[in-house]
Amino acid sequence: MTDFKLISDTEWQKRLTPEEFHVLRRAGTEPPHVGEYTDTTTEGVYSCRACGAELFRSTEKFGSDCGWPSFFSPLAGDRIIERRDVSHGMVRIEVVCANCESHLGHVFEGEGYDTPTDLRYCINSLSLKLEPKEQ
Ligand SMILES: [Zn+2]
Repeated sequence: MTDFKLISDTEWQKRLTPEEFHVLRRAGTEPPHVGEYTDTTTEGVYSCRACGAELFRSTEKFGSDCGWPSFFSPLAGDRIIERRDVSHGMVRIEVVCANCESHLGHVFEGEGYDTPTDLRYCINSLSLKLEPKEQ
């Protein structure tokens, strides 16, 4: 089995498009409101676009109008790692894939959204791949 944490930047650049590499491996952020999954309501599971690990489900996705796909909970807590991010003059909590440590987005809490957790996992579409549920 591939240990995704050991993959070099050169190898990642071969596996990913330049845009995916920028977001996933350089903690970039895609522009708001243009991501493939921003307003998607298709039922299914969202996997990490870098390694394929299942990360989020459509059942925890909600319309936040923030411009990026938003989830109130990950598929399971151990699928992601949350870490403090002080870049760009802000204190935020970065969310990375636990399996390959690629950047996914950030999580914000206490914003008052009508969800069970009041958390908003603000995730780049470029970090995800949706597997639609079989009908
Ligand atoms: Zn991953």
